Amino acid sequence: MKILVTGGAGYIGSHTVRLLIARGHDITVLDNLCYGHKAAVPAERLVVADLAHADQLVEGAGFDAVIHFAAFAYVGESVTDPAKYYANNLLGSLTLLDACRKHGVGKFVFSSTCATYGVPTSVPITEDEKQQPINPYGNTKLAFERALVDYATAYPFGCCTLRYFNAAGASPDGTIGEDHDPETHLIPLVFQAAMGKRPLVEIFGTDYPTSDGTCVRDYIHVDDLAEAHALALDRLGPGVQLRYNVGIGRGYSVREVIRTAEAVSGLKVPVKEGHRRPGDPAELVANADKIRRELGWRPRYPELRGIMETAWNWHQTHPYGYGGPG
Ligand code: UDP
Repeated sequence: MKILVTGGAGYIGSHTVRLLIARGHDITVLDNLCYGHKAAVPAERLVVADLAHADQLVEGAGFDAVIHFAAFAYVGESVTDPAKYYANNLLGSLTLLDACRKHGVGKFVFSSTCATYGVPTSVPITEDEKQQPINPYGNTKLAFERALVDYATAYPFGCCTLRYFNAAGASPDGTIGEDHDPETHLIPLVFQAAMGKRPLVEIFGTDYPTSDGTCVRDYIHVDDLAEAHALALDRLGPGVQLRYNVGIGRGYSVREVIRTAEAVSGLKVPVKEGHRRPGDPAELVANADKIRRELGWRPRYPELRGIMETAWNWHQTHPYGYGGPG
């Protein structure tokens, strides 16, 4: 298939690009390199541009499918600067979607998030859980989910929305991995603290109604997420509309993540117990039965330890991420 991957130089995008190239697909990456890394994708595949230029890229290119990762994803920033999130995550995405409609791209796979559920009424979370985001980031993702379904209902293409839980880990060969600036995610922060690159990790809240008082999340290996995209592409066709949660279906607390980092690295993680981070639900765990049943998806990394081993391999060999010192 000839596939356009937006945000393909980002964390989840780059792992998906690598998998799709290995499966023989013809991939073009559209990334403005605002947060993506040039080194994360083969140079000859990369077009450096904004979503606003999607139409020029799609017109006449003959893409069979688009996988749309490009988005801003800092929840806190979305609260203080919603304009940035609506402009990119919604307006930019609509520009891309409309280019697909005009130029006959038949399949669209969209990166959505468990943040569209807000504070769930029951856990594990199924796809039927009410979507009530509690921040602008989640709102922009949900708004585009709905636009996508409306387009796919009216126009002849298939769509798949994948609602990711907590992406984690790195390519097992250690060549691509997680590198955000600023880094806000727990697993990279924990390893950076273990390596002495940060003084400590703050635990955001120890009074949640969970087994040890800290938040519980469903960490999913980035290559398992990538596989979900590949399976969705194979299944899509005109009129097909899919939506799936993608998680391992098991939750781990912040303290369990820290203990696992210590076990995997053999290093002590300095921690400080702090206050809750606004907007963090106590527990987000996927019920991923639907994608297992319908697409035959199975996580190759069904446990946190295996996921964190690949992350540790990446952080050890790339202490400065994709950039060198300075
Ligand atoms: N977390 C934490 N300290 C940090 C960063 C994160 O205790 O410095 C917690 C956070 O409250 C959440 C979990 O770790 O419960 C995962 O957070 P992350 O930001 O990695 O992903 P999110 O769940 O926000 O998508």
